[in-house]
Amino acid sequence: MNIVITGANRGLGYELTLAAVQRGHKVIAGNRSPQEDVNLLELVSRFPGQVKPVQLDVCDEASIVRLAETLRADKQTVDAVINNAGILLGRGVALEELPIEDVVRSFEVNLFGPMMLIKHMLPLMEEGSSRAILNISSEAGSMSNAYGGDFPYAISKTAINMFSKQLKRYVKNRGIRVYAIHPGWIKTDMGGEKAPGDPVESANGIIDILEMKKEIDSESFFVNYKGEPMPM
Ligand code: NDP
Repeated sequence: MNIVITGANRGLGYELTLAAVQRGHKVIAGNRSPQEDVNLLELVSRFPGQVKPVQLDVCDEASIVRLAETLRADKQTVDAVINNAGILLGRGVALEELPIEDVVRSFEVNLFGPMMLIKHMLPLMEEGSSRAILNISSEAGSMSNAYGGDFPYAISKTAINMFSKQLKRYVKNRGIRVYAIHPGWIKTDMGGEKAPGDPVESANGIIDILEMKKEIDSESFFVNYKGEPMPM
């Protein structure tokens, strides 16, 4: 499979990239500064021909268009897109103190970026039997989530869930699967040291979903990394 992954240089995105190439897939590894990224360069030499780092800022439509043009010029199709890049701003900040720019930026990275990427990748996803779009979401975006606060993050993740639902309907007749996925609370820069979850396990579960190794009800669009349905 040819898989586009955003934010592939660290955290869950890096583990997704590693899990995918270990299983023989090719990854177009979106990364804001690929020349500087040692993690991805190390994967390029460990898995020759399987990892292609590309400059991709999900908020910069020009970088997305450049990627689409390069893939088209190379006659490459895309089997799967994993919208992984995300930011968590305004943690613990009272609403009365919250800079609205944090809300705007959260929507730019967590919602508009994924939408722009899909806009430009869909025309490259014309063929293939196991095509999929996986939007990495969070239980924070669930209407029934038990936590308060984190306004910018939570509502931007609710929005990506809604986008995923709409998109699932939109591409149904093209045979493309769409899921919003909660990866679990995992140890990354975002999740922090206290997180109980292992990003390697989460990444492998997500690649299992991509490879259709999990039984998921056809109506489900918001699931965890094990493929189990999440409450909306
Ligand atoms: P990290 O903060 O560890 O990594 C975030 C990644 O996103 C980095 O690669 C970062 O790149 C990239 N990124 C941020 N902004 C942009 C942008 N504008 N364009 C391209 N890339 C960007 O986060 P995690 O790995 O923990 O999170 C991955 C996903 O999982 C996110 O969507 C997050 O919301 C979700 N999630 C994580 C949880 C957790 O416990 N960790 C829990 C629930 C959901 P750079 O290095 O350039 O900053």
